[in-house]
Amino acid sequence: MTIVVPDEYKYLYVYDKDHPILKFPHDALRTPSKAVAKVTKKQQILVDSMLRIMRQAHGVGLAAPQLGIHERVIVIAPQGKQMALINPKVVSSSGTAVGEEGCLSIPGLYGDVERPETVVVEAMDRKGREMTLEMTGMSARVVQHEIDHLDGVLFIDKVQASTLHWIHPYSDEE
Ligand code: ZN
Repeated sequence: MTIVVPDEYKYLYVYDKDHPILKFPHDALRTPSKAVAKVTKKQQILVDSMLRIMRQAHGVGLAAPQLGIHERVIVIAPQGKQMALINPKVVSSSGTAVGEEGCLSIPGLYGDVERPETVVVEAMDRKGREMTLEMTGMSARVVQHEIDHLDGVLFIDKVQASTLHWIHPYSDEE
């Protein structure tokens, strides 16, 4: 999939101290992330900054490689409830659902992606406690999108090409 960013969206593709999310086509977005061997204060600090950056960007999910950090850490907030998952892994899935996705690393671009409708995910929380979560609907979509980031996979790799379209994302900064 070749993505050409239209001129009027290029101002969204900045990366600096105030815009710490890497933007397509940065190589770091294609680099697989390594499992976290042990959850320490370092991951807790990472999670806290990821949650803050996700909120500032009005996102529902963010993966560490989007900040150039190749550790298997994601944060999600599909229904406003924030959650961190360390070493998340889909252990089973069922059904299929098609829904629209976008990505904080590809601002302005949206399209439909088919994914399993329900997933069971094993992960650790920010304290290193193991958990198993069953997710369906929007939560399942967001968690799968973010886990894909940990493998260097972007939604444009799975999108139904004919549904891709550009819309100006809402932003406080405009
Ligand atoms: Zn994304």
